[in-house]
Amino acid sequence: MMVKMIKISIRKLLFCFIVLMLLQGFDYLPSDKPTDTFNDFAYPGGKYKALIMSFDDGCVADIKLAALFDKYKIIGTFNISSDPIGTTQIWSIKNGDTIRQSYVSEETILKIYKNHEIAAHGATHKNFLKISKDEILDQINVDIQKLNLLTRRKITSMAYPFGAANDSVSKIVAGTAITNARTVKSTNNFELPQNLLIWNPTCRDDKALNFLDNYLKSKEKKLSVFYVWGHSWELGNGKRWDNMVEFCKSISNQKDIWYTGSGTLAHYINATKKVKIKDNIITNPKGNLTVWLNLSSGVTKLKPGHQIELKML
Ligand SMILES: [Zn+2]
Repeated sequence: MMVKMIKISIRKLLFCFIVLMLLQGFDYLPSDKPTDTFNDFAYPGGKYKALIMSFDDGCVADIKLAALFDKYKIIGTFNISSDPIGTTQIWSIKNGDTIRQSYVSEETILKIYKNHEIAAHGATHKNFLKISKDEILDQINVDIQKLNLLTRRKITSMAYPFGAANDSVSKIVAGTAITNARTVKSTNNFELPQNLLIWNPTCRDDKALNFLDNYLKSKEKKLSVFYVWGHSWELGNGKRWDNMVEFCKSISNQKDIWYTGSGTLAHYINATKKVKIKDNIITNPKGNLTVWLNLSSGVTKLKPGHQIELKML
């Protein structure tokens, strides 16, 4: 009796299996449809979030701010006008008032910014919308040359003096060694820019806390950046400084955030643009950076000179 029941069950199972195969058009056989798909790139370590803290002018107040970033393992991007380095200058501000600024010295630059990125800011801080093409090139190239020499690093980033930029200015910048340049126009979002040479930041330092919780909570698997800009000399010792301390403390040590400089981030974005995706094969050319891929099967890294074939059914 028992044997008969088992036989019937096996017959039923076989029948169901055949019907299922017929219904599926024998789709169980290997097909040429890829199961894995390329969604987007991820940042190094498989992260999707990044933080850039970009501060201008190279005044001595940078010393305190860079030390704060050091404490919380945050990478700053410090945009420095090379001409006033080591001097004290009197600047005219609104209402006929003046402001006295002291700039970091040549000897201390490497120490202060040891863990941070150093970027250009126009040799004498002229407004690029009010000077000729040759003067713009001079402002940038003098900065790059001096800062390269002083820091023994390759300077690739810049913040526009007064944030002044437009399309034609950015095209002039494109002819220099600068790969990315920041304005002061807030986007109030975490999107990557269309044009790295007109990189509008998320917000100024005094608004950063307003965006903090949303960014910390975000689980979106799409490349983003929280880009804060400001002047260390505006932070003072009161509420604005306290807010900066609170911001750094809260955003530090997050496993899903890449703490980086704008040049490093731009370099990575440009590297992702060199990756070729064709016929389910992803190729990272030789000499490129290692890139991280966000595939439907998970995050994987692809070294330069290597390729990956998306898995088939
Ligand atoms: Zn400035």
